[in-house]
Amino acid sequence: MENWRDNNTFIYMKYQVTKKQCEAQIKGVCEGCGGKLEALKTVDNGGKPTYWVGCNHCSCFRGGIDKIYFEVARKLVESGEMLPYCSMIKHEYEDTPERLEYWLDTQTASLSYDVERIYLMVLELAQEK
Ligand SMILES: [Zn+2]
Repeated sequence: MENWRDNNTFIYMKYQVTKKQCEAQIKGVCEGCGGKLEALKTVDNGGKPTYWVGCNHCSCFRGGIDKIYFEVARKLVESGEMLPYCSMIKHEYEDTPERLEYWLDTQTASLSYDVERIYLMVLELAQEK
């Protein structure tokens, strides 16, 4: 029993994902701001220390995306053509540059994945023709 407890304590103190393992998972850019992704020190849902991929600029954990999808999404958000969070009204975020940036990054983060999905689906269907 004593041994079990010691083992558990040892596991608890270890990083679930090491910084190196986390850095190896990084792919692409931040889907919100297009910035560099990093291994961010955090704790998992069980309170254990770990590293997750995220963006310091957005203060968010991120999955990462190819830069081209981010660029297309950002253009569509900036032009107002596609806004995935339609309940987030732009003018309500225009009171400070930080809030406007948050609005832009949040809209872009979601749309980046939509753009990737649409592009891959177009390629897939084009191959079948
Ligand atoms: Zn970011």
